[in-house]
Amino acid sequence: MPVLENTEVQTYAGASPREDKSFHTDVLVVGGGFGGMYALWKIRQLGFKTKLFEAGSEFGGTWHWNSYPGARVDSEMPYYAFSIPEVWKTWNWTERFPSHEELKRYFRHVDKVLDLSTDAYFNTIVTEAKYDGKTWTVRTRGGRIVWCRYLILATGSSYKKHIPAMKGLDVYKGKTIHAADWPRDGLDVRGKRVGVIGNGATGVQIVQELGKQDCELSVFIRTPICALPMRQRILSVEEQETSKMVYEFLYDGCKTSRAGFPFKTPSKGFWEVTLAEREQRMEEGWSRGGFAFNQGTYRDFIFDKEANKIFYEFWARKVRKRISDPQKAAIAAPIPQKSWFATKRPSLEQDYYDVINQDNVKLVDIKATPIDSFQGNGILTTEKLHELDVVILATGYDAVTGSLLDMGLEDKNGISLRQRWKDGVRTYLGLMIPDMPNLFMVYSPQAPTSFANGPPIIEIQVDWVAQALQKMQEEGIESIEAQEKSAEEWYAEVKRIGEQTLYPSVDSWYMGANIPGKPRELLLYLGGVNVYAETCSTALRSWKGFNIERKASHVRASI
Ligand code: NAP
Repeated sequence: MPVLENTEVQTYAGASPREDKSFHTDVLVVGGGFGGMYALWKIRQLGFKTKLFEAGSEFGGTWHWNSYPGARVDSEMPYYAFSIPEVWKTWNWTERFPSHEELKRYFRHVDKVLDLSTDAYFNTIVTEAKYDGKTWTVRTRGGRIVWCRYLILATGSSYKKHIPAMKGLDVYKGKTIHAADWPRDGLDVRGKRVGVIGNGATGVQIVQELGKQDCELSVFIRTPICALPMRQRILSVEEQETSKMVYEFLYDGCKTSRAGFPFKTPSKGFWEVTLAEREQRMEEGWSRGGFAFNQGTYRDFIFDKEANKIFYEFWARKVRKRISDPQKAAIAAPIPQKSWFATKRPSLEQDYYDVINQDNVKLVDIKATPIDSFQGNGILTTEKLHELDVVILATGYDAVTGSLLDMGLEDKNGISLRQRWKDGVRTYLGLMIPDMPNLFMVYSPQAPTSFANGPPIIEIQVDWVAQALQKMQEEGIESIEAQEKSAEEWYAEVKRIGEQTLYPSVDSWYMGANIPGKPRELLLYLGGVNVYAETCSTALRSWKGFNIERKASHVRASI
């Protein structure tokens, strides 16, 4: 049976019907998640005619697509939100870590407050974008053509689903669902034998939810995740309304922090403090919940194998207390550690480790007994056949670059982005690509992106683009373009910082290592949100690293 596809046709009630098939605009934004929404709002205010294309039927990006049971954000509120006062003054959250349903409602609220859908085209997928020396020509699957001076790609990190090539997938007679294609009318698992492949953030949330239902769950784990305690709680309207007095400080704090959360990390390193002080700080991070344990304590675990081991042992000690079955404990929290702590993205859990301890949940260690193939009635591992009615693929995404590579992008010489990046990504500051004038990226490769809380890094990048467009107007500049040399230098900088850490030694999507054939390289910038923002601002002040083309003289200048 083919993997179920979520083909969207419904149109969001907020969107007006679109008659204008092809048109000219100053700016086209592609993507309607946090990045695209903020870009449309920000750039439109500068007086540019701005339009937005979104593949889904409404705003929300990854939160529009993901409706699997238990899907919720694991960046906490109010930090995982727009810093736009009109938006936060008129909105309160119900939970510290809201569900996808609440996030969907939030995006509708943002749309209403900022009046975004008047300039948005939903169910619109870009298939081609070419530059002719002055203008980008963008074509869509539905046959629309748009000509624009500036193109902003806010296509997100987790759009292109990854379904591993597994033998026999087509002969399997049960249902197979990628988590991002969850049936809109739900999936009744009662009385069913359900398999979940994948132990990333998505797999954890699905197992945590489905395990509580009347079903038999088999969880196929290749690399156990290090999930951290979420410490979910209800947020009252009163506490939020009171805290709003300091929201502006908090949002500024996010943008001047290392990871996009207003955490003050210890001034001393892991080895510079006493054992007691270190343990106290780790305990505090653990009990505060969220990413306080890894982002608000000592970062040494990223660089230093000994510190990493101590972090892992701390984590394993806590988690193993909750798993009474020793075989399950050995799979979910193995000792000794099998992978460096937090070098794959950690996720948050509420009662995941209690749920996997239940009798209706089986853990299958597919490192020890790999999957051989799908059969008509289930999954055959090298140990046995696991009979299954439904298989959920929580197998992730062609992350960070997947959506950019699938848009039919060509540079000014007619060379496709796929060709340009066949041996690895080259961008300048994660914002621009050489030979692609006036094309900007948001939540992009070689920027802090998934190493940071999303909204602050997105706002930093979009604010940069807005300033660049303004500056171009003021200085009579028609186009800007990243220099090849600056892209090479930025690549080297991303690599240099990455090589000081343990990330490159682990096969993760951060390294592009989850997709066969994808070049293995660190896809994200690890220098921190604050340093990144400062570096981008400095470059903008003098156009350092850009080729610029002025209107009047049409003289090219390299700076
Ligand atoms: P992921 O982190 O890439 O995890 C994919 C999982 O599938 C891994 O456990 C991987 O195992 C496994 N897998 C892949 N191919 C396999 C194969 N052929 N056989 C067996 N196992 C296989 O994907 P994700 O969980 O969807 O998360 C992706 C990202 O989305 C997250 O890192 C996060 O940034 C975001 N996300 C966020 C939230 C949130 O905020 N709450 C929720 C969900 C997702 P290996 O590790 O061994 O390769």
